[in-house]
Amino acid sequence: ECAATRLYTEQDPLVILTKDSLRATLTDSSSAWLVQFYSSWCGHCIQYSGTWKALARDVKDWQGAIGVAVFDCALEDNFDLCRDYGIKFYPTFKYFKAHSGAAERGTIYRGGDREIPSVRQLMVNILQNHTREERPEQCPELRTYNSVELLPLLGLRSDHYTALIIEEPQSYTGREVILDLLQYSGVVVRRAVSSDRPLVDVLGIKELPTVHLLQPNSSHHTVHTEKRLRFFFTSLLRSLPGVQRKIHTNSSVLNPHKGALSDQSTQPPWRDFDRSLVYAADLESALHYLFRVELASHRSLEGEELRTFKDLVTLLAKLYPGGGAVVKLMETLSDWLLSLPLQKIPYQAVLDLVDNKMKISGVFLGSQMRWVGCQGSAPGLRGYPCALWTLFHLLSVRRQAAPFALQHTALEAEAAPVINVMRRYIRTFFGCEECGKNFEEAALSDSVAEIKSPEEEVMWLWDQHNQVNDRLAGSLSDDPRFPKGAWPPPSLCASCHDEERGLHAFNRQQVLQFLLHHYSDANLSHKYTV
Ligand code: FAD
Repeated sequence: ECAATRLYTEQDPLVILTKDSLRATLTDSSSAWLVQFYSSWCGHCIQYSGTWKALARDVKDWQGAIGVAVFDCALEDNFDLCRDYGIKFYPTFKYFKAHSGAAERGTIYRGGDREIPSVRQLMVNILQNHTREERPEQCPELRTYNSVELLPLLGLRSDHYTALIIEEPQSYTGREVILDLLQYSGVVVRRAVSSDRPLVDVLGIKELPTVHLLQPNSSHHTVHTEKRLRFFFTSLLRSLPGVQRKIHTNSSVLNPHKGALSDQSTQPPWRDFDRSLVYAADLESALHYLFRVELASHRSLEGEELRTFKDLVTLLAKLYPGGGAVVKLMETLSDWLLSLPLQKIPYQAVLDLVDNKMKISGVFLGSQMRWVGCQGSAPGLRGYPCALWTLFHLLSVRRQAAPFALQHTALEAEAAPVINVMRRYIRTFFGCEECGKNFEEAALSDSVAEIKSPEEEVMWLWDQHNQVNDRLAGSLSDDPRFPKGAWPPPSLCASCHDEERGLHAFNRQQVLQFLLHHYSDANLSHKYTV
């Protein structure tokens, strides 16, 4: 296979059409389509591919109403279809309405620019150009509502929230937010324009755009967000209590942790928690699972496995917070491992040490899983993998705060010791094999080798985790009550978010400050620990 076909891969959140799937996908589809016919030898197409992927990522949740696809006209297999669709220049953007017939060859977009905001607006316009009968079934109403329709809703009880977005007539924010909520239940979003005086007067709207929220209990108020940006509105509405991502039973991504996590057949009582804190109970539960279940499935450790295990114990002994029982246990374990001249150790010996000896000296590891910040709304969701991420983020921040902690250990010369031990642990022991492969690929492509400072290590891990969140949003391992998305959300860190050229952007400096605080000792709660 030639390298050129790799301009887009299965990892990208768009549909790669082939000679066999093109017609079937575009004909009588329940959603509209925006297709980029490109050529993998065209320099401009290569340069543009980054923008197209960013666009597809940005409107991933609009699928169902409108999908984004690509078709490579440089592939010999595809020559005939490109001719049939009248493609003369690359790239050519064509859109297809929902329920298009087999003879439909699409409409060319000849817009002035191909920047993300323009193309996104084109997508909204495409949807609005459908007649009522043609409209994709899943596409919500994008038209403006007026005071006559909306005012009677005030003071009514309902089984859902209604969010009114009041904006300038030419603004696209309201329609973009409506589409961003397409995959969510529990909230209906309507837009209205600022020239509707009765509405603006009754609601007391002063600034635009504004979200006015009608609660299920019939009260209503204008919502405050730090910035009046699409991302802030969308995040806020998605995080309302009871608003959930709709579950797709046909999702192709299976929860790889089902086995590891269905530890409780009956749900334990819910533990209230604060999303702005990190819970020691999660970290200890993760270590309990890691030492007593995950590692224990290996009868003995030798070679690479043994080295990884030793390094993990060292990392925990030196960086785990608090100087309490966990640190004492790791120190003892670490000394014991260093004193052993063995090439191979039976894992039972580790278990004995953890379970028995430790009890005698009062140094022990909690012996059950008690998820708090990592509680899932159903068995098999969140839990261990959630707490494992949390643990490694916290270790990376601890290392930034204590730059000399790893001196005189096998890890002292490493520029990214936390990530490298994590990588080796995930690859060698983590029960989800697919996760290990993905993480390793990421470490190679977004080069870990280039990390030079503890701050860069903290940020690399944050970045990778967000890429995983992005990939898994809406999949079966996404807990509808705790939907994955770009993290931290504005509710945890408003200053972390900005918009650049119409696209959501993180302010990395603010994110770093936030992470250093969030995963610091001061932010660690010991509630629910024994
Ligand atoms: P998680 O994603 O587990 O996050 C845990 C907590 O970390 C969050 O609650 C939040 O407080 C915080 N957080 C979230 N994002 C960030 C961030 N960017 N930076 C810092 N803190 C953050 N599952 C798959 O289905 N496929 C995979 O390929 C896959 N790969 C994985 C690779 C690794 C290394 C790990 C540890 C897990 C992987 N998983 C994978 C599991 C998946 O990422 C989640 O851990 C799991 O689905 C539970 O998700 P969650 O919603 O509880 O939050």
